[in-house]
Amino acid sequence: MADNKSGPGGDQKFVSEGEFQAGESASGIISGVTFGPTEVVYYKVNNLAVFEGDIVLGTVAELEQTKDAANQDDARARGVIITGARFRWTNAEVPFRINAALPNQQRVRDAITHWEARTPIRFPERTTANAAQYPNFIEFSDSGGCWSMLGMQGNGMQTISLGTGCSTGNAIHEIGHAVGLWHEQSREDRNTFVTINRANIEAGMESQFDQHIVDGDDVGGYDYGSIMHYPRTAFSKNGLETITPVQAGAQIGQRTALSAGDIAAVNFMYPQTARASSSPVVSWGPNRLDAFVLGTNRAVFHKWFSGAWGPSVTGYENMGGIAECAPQAVAWGPNRLDLFVTGTDSALYHKWWNGSAWGPSVTGYEYMGGVILGDPRVVAWGPNRLDVFVVGSDHGLYHKWFNGAWGPSVTGYENMGGIVVGQPEVVSWGPNRLDVFVIGTDRALYHKWWNGSAWGPSLTGYERLGGVCTSSPRVVSWGPNRLDVFVTGTDGALYHKWWNGSAWGPSVNDFEQLGGIVVGEPEAVSWGPNRLDLFVIGTDSALYHKWFDGNAWGPSVLGYENMGGIATSQPRVVSWSSGRLDVFLTGTNSALFHKWFNGAAWGPSLTGYESLGGVITSFDEAEVRAGSDALNRDTD
Ligand SMILES: [Zn+2]
Repeated sequence: MADNKSGPGGDQKFVSEGEFQAGESASGIISGVTFGPTEVVYYKVNNLAVFEGDIVLGTVAELEQTKDAANQDDARARGVIITGARFRWTNAEVPFRINAALPNQQRVRDAITHWEARTPIRFPERTTANAAQYPNFIEFSDSGGCWSMLGMQGNGMQTISLGTGCSTGNAIHEIGHAVGLWHEQSREDRNTFVTINRANIEAGMESQFDQHIVDGDDVGGYDYGSIMHYPRTAFSKNGLETITPVQAGAQIGQRTALSAGDIAAVNFMYPQTARASSSPVVSWGPNRLDAFVLGTNRAVFHKWFSGAWGPSVTGYENMGGIAECAPQAVAWGPNRLDLFVTGTDSALYHKWWNGSAWGPSVTGYEYMGGVILGDPRVVAWGPNRLDVFVVGSDHGLYHKWFNGAWGPSVTGYENMGGIVVGQPEVVSWGPNRLDVFVIGTDRALYHKWWNGSAWGPSLTGYERLGGVCTSSPRVVSWGPNRLDVFVTGTDGALYHKWWNGSAWGPSVNDFEQLGGIVVGEPEAVSWGPNRLDLFVIGTDSALYHKWFDGNAWGPSVLGYENMGGIATSQPRVVSWSSGRLDVFLTGTNSALFHKWFNGAAWGPSLTGYESLGGVITSFDEAEVRAGSDALNRDTD
């Protein structure tokens, strides 16, 4: 806000130190993420337009402009109003700094700890070093009373004021406004749940109870326990109740903790999309597929589906390079692709599609250093974010990341310890979360994780999860706090374990046996919560499928659906939406083959395949070249 100084003296008599600030009333036009231009009554406090006591809509001058524009009633003017829409925070990250003059700064620290423990919102501290990464941020200061702007304003710094009368609970409440939560009692259905006692309301403050905002946070039932609800005596002139719950004995106005309803609303506003590990096939959205293969000259070739196959059903786009193994691709959002390959010099190479062109060029690659065994694994937890994991020549795990720039540097890597056999696996169940799985020299499964602030169990340490694994791990997440891990065992069968948010199933060291005799690497995909689809190649080289529907394994715990074919590669599967599966593998003529599930039936048939042409030399996960460490059970 450009104008955040003390206002004219006439306002001062209304200013209180707490959450319920009052002043001269006026009306203005606001709009939100899920509602159009709406006229609201606000109160002028210190030249700020204050709504319902502690939500600052902007400066009085800004709100007066919205009203003037609305009165002109033309398209241009309405466009101006809509520009004022309140935004969600990018990547669910709310960067913050604390004004040095703010007393009792522990209130801020404790409130942020509370939010981070209960919601996906993360609060990186903004410093000189990361300022460019976080252009929009909150400054906590004492600017008179407890108040906040609503949502991310998108114009640089915005204030949360914590006056001397504001507690940690008030800070949690004000952060709620900054994240995008309105007051609970402003819901359209509130008259069913609370009674407004107008006789007890301070003169002129009636409008503080008359607002009806329908926004994205109006999810779930009316929540008396919300930290965003007015207390019983808000704006009371006589200490008697101004707002009384219809349900006898219901508690309202707590300023201690986010309620389950508050947390559900935040999860609704900031949906956490689980991201699968990189693969030669990827989808950035419905009706879109991108497949990358190596041709006979080991150059990278590309084809895509966007309603029809491009450049043609059996044709490919030549993307140059000479690669050691099948490319690994991820999409951090619509119309974005990032592709990683290991070159013949064992270094990592990168290219990207930015929506209009390939970078650095159609056939060019960015050199990213390293000496890599096998192929990289990559995940994108959100826009402009990539995490790349590779196994180095010392068999240690190494990590690099992109957050607008490459860390630790374009060609540098972070050493994550371990002695890894086969290929690593990484998934993300939401922003700022990574789960990495590797097989150790004892062939047990090992796990490490990034929780948004630190690596667990440590930067170079691992959690041992048991087993004697003969494949690399394949891991999917169907949502926050859920992981499903698949490996093959020494008997060739498929094995499963899962993380349900609190414990490993069936136990830390045990696995669920899922039958079969699997050749090569298994494939797993999840199209949504409580759904898993697994694909393996059997000893007859046919494709086999099994699935989990939330209740049981189909066709049975140990059984598989025969999907025909004679495969010469492992299957690669991607899902662009709930109920959709696209399966790719190579056949005996080295061409690429495709089949799909549209939610009702398999195309072109249960056991049939669409030929996509090509002479493909690599569609499999790389074999680690040090033969004695290979996972292949046939050569032990
Ligand atoms: Zn409030």
